[in-house]
Amino acid sequence: MTLIPFDDRDGSIWWDGAVVPWRDAKLHVLSHGLHYASAVFEGERAYNGHIFKLREHTERLLESGRILGFEIPWSADQIDEACLQTLERSGLTDAYIRPLAWRGSEQLSVSAQATRIHLMVAAWAWPNLFGADRMKGVRLATSKWKRPHPETAPIHAKAAGLYMTSTMSKHDAEAQGYSDALMLDWRGQVSEATGANIFFVMDGALHTPTADCFLDGITRRTVMALAAKRQIPVVERAIMPDEMGHATEVFVTGSAAEVTPVRQIDDLHFDSGLVTATLLKDYEALVRMAPEQVRLQLAA
Ligand code: PMP
Repeated sequence: MTLIPFDDRDGSIWWDGAVVPWRDAKLHVLSHGLHYASAVFEGERAYNGHIFKLREHTERLLESGRILGFEIPWSADQIDEACLQTLERSGLTDAYIRPLAWRGSEQLSVSAQATRIHLMVAAWAWPNLFGADRMKGVRLATSKWKRPHPETAPIHAKAAGLYMTSTMSKHDAEAQGYSDALMLDWRGQVSEATGANIFFVMDGALHTPTADCFLDGITRRTVMALAAKRQIPVVERAIMPDEMGHATEVFVTGSAAEVTPVRQIDDLHFDSGLVTATLLKDYEALVRMAPEQVRLQLAA
């Protein structure tokens, strides 16, 4: 696979209200966000030229900043507009959109009250987190790293610092030949993958861990609404790893992962079944609708 480095591409990036040529969007090495992970971000997808659930992503970005103690100096309307403009300028109709807010270089110590808050938005083509053969199902290996207690880390923020253990876990899983890691939480309960939430089909119902120490994904909530529309019972509860063997189907959800079947977790094997196929198809249809139609569909 040829990797195209992210700092050497054509196009432009929205940065603090200006449009900067892609290769010139460079940051000083003495930035607080880089040293102390004082950064929050979003991962969004556009389909047919519409960014799916844009306002929810923007609200979560603003809220993530507040959880980390800063106010992003742009309104929700301005951030939505920045994302839409970035998408339009990219020339893509189907794309991944990445807004990121971070503390600047005015101070470089733990205390960073006087730092300026910056915001950037970039868009690029990124078909799916798990690549083209994801429909065969991905394979997860349980990580040794745990999702933390909600008093240990700001688990409801999409904060850069939380991805330190995600990358370490994903690399460990990849080194063992798996696609991703399954993360347990500090209690030993099943939580999520490194960048996607997890669902289990058990006795015809959809079971998913309660989002009390990991990100309650926008895709997770969307899939739960789609399941309800299909009269598939949805159960949010604590799930222990030794229960996973009772599942007949497993899938993960996320803006980047979309709905992706899981065919293996450690030594457990799963078939891709009807519930996964139905929700995958419903999700694919929903994301391709215009925003107003999406609202109508989910309200019905
Ligand atoms: N958990 C983590 C750790 C993630 O990075 C993501 C992707 N943002 C998700 C869950 C899924 O969230 P969403 O459906 O909002 O993209």
